[in-house]
Amino acid sequence: MTVPKFTSTPIDEIPVIRENLRRAFRTGRSKSIAYRKQQLLALAYMIKDNAARLHEALDLDLHRAPSETNFIEIFPSLAEAKEAYDSVGKWSKPERVHWSFNWFAMNPTIRKEAKGVVLIISPFNYPITLSLGPLSGAIAAGNACVLKPSELTPAYSALLAELVPQYLDPEMYTVINGAIPETTEMLKLQWDHILYTGGARVASIILGAAAKTLTPVTTEACHPPSSWFLLHLGGKSPVFIDPKCDLKMTAKRLMWGKVTNAGQTCIAPDYVLVPRSFVDTFVTACIEALKEFFPDGAEKSDSYARVISPGHFKRIKALLDGTRGAVAYGGSTNEDTKFIEPTLVVGVKNDDSLMSEEIFGPVLPILVVEDVNEALEIVNSRDHPLALYVFSRDAAYKAKVFDNTQSGACVANDCIVHYATEGLPFGGIGPSGSGMQGGKFSFDTFTHFRGTLDNPKWVDIILGGRYAPFTPKKQAS
Ligand code: NAD
Repeated sequence: MTVPKFTSTPIDEIPVIRENLRRAFRTGRSKSIAYRKQQLLALAYMIKDNAARLHEALDLDLHRAPSETNFIEIFPSLAEAKEAYDSVGKWSKPERVHWSFNWFAMNPTIRKEAKGVVLIISPFNYPITLSLGPLSGAIAAGNACVLKPSELTPAYSALLAELVPQYLDPEMYTVINGAIPETTEMLKLQWDHILYTGGARVASIILGAAAKTLTPVTTEACHPPSSWFLLHLGGKSPVFIDPKCDLKMTAKRLMWGKVTNAGQTCIAPDYVLVPRSFVDTFVTACIEALKEFFPDGAEKSDSYARVISPGHFKRIKALLDGTRGAVAYGGSTNEDTKFIEPTLVVGVKNDDSLMSEEIFGPVLPILVVEDVNEALEIVNSRDHPLALYVFSRDAAYKAKVFDNTQSGACVANDCIVHYATEGLPFGGIGPSGSGMQGGKFSFDTFTHFRGTLDNPKWVDIILGGRYAPFTPKKQAS
């Protein structure tokens, strides 16, 4: 085993770390584009050189197959570092505002400046992408940064703490490891920005703490506690199925979205809305796709991850045990190995246990609807989801769904892939999150847009009226 042991950062060191980063930031060396590019390149090499160790860590933490980790984490994180490397010069350029007769002489310009020392708090499920993706944005914007990865992925978090100082400027970028006590200590301090990705319960703790220090926060949440039943259902991403879809492709892509990382994806398809006459055909196609993925069953497959913790296992199992729908496929579990079989449940109603919170596991409830209008009603009776999916070959059907719903993102004929698509923002709306990340959007999140102008003396010929005394002549003009 080449993965180091997880150790928490001593709590009394946390304020010192923040202070040291502030000092490093004030040296001004992260202002240079050459420095940022060098750090971004080093970040890319950190990921590339250590892909095998990252695979090992993710196997230990999540029983995740290397190919899956490559596709959902390593390639997107590398692409994000590369995009930031290629674009940082362009993104950082001061922007002249549009020409206007009243103001042009003052040369109004927006300077793109680093916010300072920023904090990235990330969850367990996509530990690489959700820490190193935003880190690319933070570096590109010229910030110093603390990464706080999840204690639920101890192998990855320990490896990250080892690698970051080896590859990046250790005075400017650092990892703080730990769980609630360490994060609570961090939240007592003022940061120049916090980007938090994780569940809604913790999001409100972070927002509450940040309010006390007036720290700006971007929240990429949510996975609401079940006690918020039908109030905050942010990440619960619905899928509209048009019977005129390409059935085989739909089933394959949808099942891929549900079984990837054993369903522990914030934008996983959470529930499906299928017209009554199409349910049997649709379910049969989904079962065929699952059998194709795991010919000997998911439990024996090396291509299928496990649920992260006993707590999450129990939570998903309880949702499954509580359903009044009928299990059409799967349903088996193993508490010792935290295995939950890819499971399809049909005939689920809007008030079922499986609809009470984001499932965040490999269980797919299928709701039977009469038509697309009923499906729209169900989706619109809930909080705006993080993603919304539609499978159809009919442009009018897709437009109807997109035009009559709200969500963080809306995607036709695939799922999940949009989070890694260059140029698209990633973020929620309302309870599913605030603010955006991904490429330039991460750069903007960590950038202060500082308005500036330089007003020449002669402009007083036009604006002299602002000075007292306000004589009748001045007041008349
Ligand atoms: P979590 O909210 O439990 O933990 C996230 C981070 O918060 C961790 O680093 C953890 O150490 C810290 N934390 C936990 N409890 C805390 C507390 N009381 N005070 C301060 N900090 C605390 O999330 P998780 O279980 O690791 O991740 C799964 C959740 O993340 C899911 O709900 C999923 O929907 C959500 N998620 C959202 C997105 C998105 O972009 N919207 C992406 C991935 C995951």
